[in-house]
Amino acid sequence: MTVMATSPSGGPLCDARTQLRQAVEILGYDEGTYDMLATSRREVSVSVPLRRDDGRIEVLVGHRVQHNFSRGPAKGGLRFGPGVDLDEVRALAMWMTWKCALVDLPYGGAKGGIAIDPRSSSMAELERVTRRYTSEIAPVIGPDQDIPAPDVGTDERVMAWMLDTYSVGIGRTAPAVVTGKPIALGGSLGRASATSRGVADITVAALAHRGRDVRGARIAVQGFGKVGRDAARFLHEAGARIVAVSDVDGAVIALEGLDVPALVAHAAVAGTVVGFAGADPLEPAELLELELDVLIPAAVEGVIHEGNARRVRAAIVVEGANGPTTSEADRILRERDVLVVPDILANSGGVIVSYFEWAQANQTYRWSEAEVERRLRERMTIAWHAVVDSAARRDVSLRLAATTLAVERVTEAHRLRGLYP
Ligand code: NAD
Repeated sequence: MTVMATSPSGGPLCDARTQLRQAVEILGYDEGTYDMLATSRREVSVSVPLRRDDGRIEVLVGHRVQHNFSRGPAKGGLRFGPGVDLDEVRALAMWMTWKCALVDLPYGGAKGGIAIDPRSSSMAELERVTRRYTSEIAPVIGPDQDIPAPDVGTDERVMAWMLDTYSVGIGRTAPAVVTGKPIALGGSLGRASATSRGVADITVAALAHRGRDVRGARIAVQGFGKVGRDAARFLHEAGARIVAVSDVDGAVIALEGLDVPALVAHAAVAGTVVGFAGADPLEPAELLELELDVLIPAAVEGVIHEGNARRVRAAIVVEGANGPTTSEADRILRERDVLVVPDILANSGGVIVSYFEWAQANQTYRWSEAEVERRLRERMTIAWHAVVDSAARRDVSLRLAATTLAVERVTEAHRLRGLYP
């Protein structure tokens, strides 16, 4: 399939290509290099017929986009959501390429998505969808080719079904085909909380960079899923005041600081943060505009945009989610001296420990949790300093510094390999 590197108006792909354009300009690369990096290497779209529990057949659409292979096999999550579309998956795949290069993993970037609402689907339906999708994309995934992981709306159960379906297809168990799988199937200790741990550590580093202490820092978290929930928990444990959190159903606020463990327990039972007794309800949009030391968007793309960026009153934005800040909002926040720690740095803990999980599967050896955490911190610290130094040297935002470093590494790998034929 031919995919032109023209940007649509708005949306995450437009933002991803704007960021790439800026990095290519800084690096002085030519238009051909931009086109090559703006374009996915491979895109597979499949129809996924689903038999609902009541017998109806519904035909869903699934995608797997492999953006780049210059540094190694492609790596990236699988998303379930009613609004998933190809352009979103393309953008997320491109960001995965930069993220892997930035933290120096031997991977390119990929992403997958199925347009399904997991909340209105039964477990049996999700299993059937996952297995059918996996068998459809099986020819293009594999431990040396493309390694999926969980993302929004998917979890370790989905990874277990993917592992099983792929393994049955090839006639042997292939633990390295996915990461973020259950520990009992070769998942890595420390993987489930790795993204959140990284987000929390980077938040502490960003606060220190701005001369602030994490103890007593006022923080709000948008999204209370795999990333947001544990980031709130780790920062609460570090002494921060988590003043507000939200999920797709609503938001809650307690200016003196939420009792995060109690909120986690409430959400585990209720399925939402809404109704938590230890807090007041809050209009979800207002969470982004509270007076804060740190705002952590940890839900979906494009939530900080031209329409609300001037009302963001946080000193620091740490992007737990991928692409939560549009290009226009990014410019506005920089003008207003808000420090934005970009997604490809802030949430890279997940893919770093996914890489450790893949390495452990290839070694058939399990590392201790302490070992995983030590190596995670080491990589994130190196990347943080590289980005901060480069931003100061080039006098650019942390995002542009991070993207530029990553684009340079990917392009170097491409140049060394050469263009075939
Ligand atoms: P998840 O499905 O576990 O949780 C998503 C959370 O966001 C849920 O609480 C949901 O209710 C909430 N949400 C959805 N739409 C919302 C909205 N409009 N407003 C407020 N809340 C909303 O997903 P996750 O794995 O936590 O991923 C969150 C973000 O982090 C995504 O951008 C994902 O790509 C990114 N990310 C995840 C990982 C990982 O390891 N899971 C790694 C890197 C980046």
